[in-house]
Amino acid sequence: MTDSAPRPFRVRWLGRVRYRDALALQRGIHAHAGEAAGERAGEEASSPQDHLLLLEHHAVYTLGLSGDPANLLAPPEEIGAEVVRADRGGDVTYHGPGQLVGYPLLHLPGKRGGGMADTAAYVHAVEEVVMAACRDLGLADVGRLGRYPGVWVEPDGPRPRKVAAIGVKLTRSRTMHGFALNVDPDLDHFDRMVPCGISEYGVTSLAAEGIGASMAEVVDRVAARASERWAAGPVDRADVARPVERAAPDGDLAPFSRGAGPGDVPPVERKPEWMRVPLDTGPEYRRLKALMRSSDLVTVCEEAGCPNVFECWNDGTATFMINGERCTRACGFCLVDTRRPDAPDLGEPERVAAAVAEMDLAHAVVTAVARDDLADHGAGAFAATIHAIRRRRPGTAVEVLVPDCKGDEAALATIFDARPDVLNHNVETVARLQRRVRPSAGYARSLSVLARAKAAGLTTKSSIMVGLGETDDEVDGCLADLAAVGCDIATIGQYLRPTTNHLPVERWVEPAAFERWRDVGRAVGIGHVEASPLTRSSHHARSAAEAVGGAVPVTLGQRVGS
Ligand code: SF4
Repeated sequence: MTDSAPRPFRVRWLGRVRYRDALALQRGIHAHAGEAAGERAGEEASSPQDHLLLLEHHAVYTLGLSGDPANLLAPPEEIGAEVVRADRGGDVTYHGPGQLVGYPLLHLPGKRGGGMADTAAYVHAVEEVVMAACRDLGLADVGRLGRYPGVWVEPDGPRPRKVAAIGVKLTRSRTMHGFALNVDPDLDHFDRMVPCGISEYGVTSLAAEGIGASMAEVVDRVAARASERWAAGPVDRADVARPVERAAPDGDLAPFSRGAGPGDVPPVERKPEWMRVPLDTGPEYRRLKALMRSSDLVTVCEEAGCPNVFECWNDGTATFMINGERCTRACGFCLVDTRRPDAPDLGEPERVAAAVAEMDLAHAVVTAVARDDLADHGAGAFAATIHAIRRRRPGTAVEVLVPDCKGDEAALATIFDARPDVLNHNVETVARLQRRVRPSAGYARSLSVLARAKAAGLTTKSSIMVGLGETDDEVDGCLADLAAVGCDIATIGQYLRPTTNHLPVERWVEPAAFERWRDVGRAVGIGHVEASPLTRSSHHARSAAEAVGGAVPVTLGQRVGS
């Protein structure tokens, strides 16, 4: 692999993101996107990927490596702000709504050491990009101020003021952290600290300087200047719903997500022949059905009306659903009960383990609805179920398909520490459609859950549905983002509309497109891609896990633990 090989430059506008989620995502990409694609898939290495993450943070004060807490002058909690220590240069800084934060995650050819000189040169480059964007937007008199990093307004005037802060990290020729450009934030929040430890100069914003550019316009300018400066290959841009498009709150959501509940069974849409599944209630299917009823267990196979239920159950596999059938969310594609959830059933983990033993499962998949009503987001039940299965069937591989737990690190750690053989968390759709398809979740948050699981040493997996209005290129970009956080397995399947109150099927994707996505996924470094019109996230779960060494290989018919 030569440093001159074209590297895709992936620009992602991620909307409003919690600092901790963005940090986990950065670390994931920093750890994995540097791997030349293919390296993980053991194929011919091609070039690493470069990313530019653009976002706004919820209110937070971050302290850099030399950050002095004494520079926080007022209790952050008064404005609902978090305080986070960050492994970047610099002192204390504020991030919040109205401020464009950019994290260039670049592979800087030839800069192996990341010494002071390299870092200074890189900070210089970041300043250049932000200054150029400011000038494009009409703020002409911007520049550097002596030894203070950042972008300053009227640096040679009597009252220099900072419009953008910069704090970076350069290790193993890869960059992290970046810049924070004040578009129109609440500047009072900067008075609650000594910005960057610099007491003699003030802070300003584009708006305070009379530049009325919207966040979307600033995002476009910065993305253009950054691509000019750093793109060493094709620019692949993907945005979550742009701020301006949220003019009609909820107008773009399915009635189901707006609380209308399920509608009628949709009129039989003329499904293409490749979507038709023969009804096959064989003996194994009937045995499992009886077992689920007698064990008072719930499966997502039945709850979601999965087209593969006959194939999987006749093959003796099923996906158990714990933590009840009522979800605290209402994704636009999901046939779930959204009434007030019941209290967790403490006997459920043992019952699932007993069913796993009864079914002699080599690979058990456990999923759950989102339980935002619980302090641990339902994580404890996942851990208890993994442990119960392990006690009962030590040889059974356990895969869990988990909600994002709102990014709660303690809840996620509870699940990760139970060491599932495969940690599955679905991004479900491409960046642009996130808000429409899963309004209570987020693209950056889901990628950060996968990045955290990977950092915990787990085999990770995610799933994308198509037919919701995405383009093929957007799916390619989503696969690249999964690869960038080290995702080992990806599944891609056709969306089916559960009721008339759910999102419509925008297209029936041809089988050939799935074959192509299998190749695209492998090319960007995903170990195994399960893709077909009927694929669902747990479909062929065992073989997918075995393909990446994420599960105990068991030959068909061999009794588990024998
Ligand atoms: S969070 Fe999961 S179970 Fe709940 S509505 Fe969304 S997809 Fe369905």
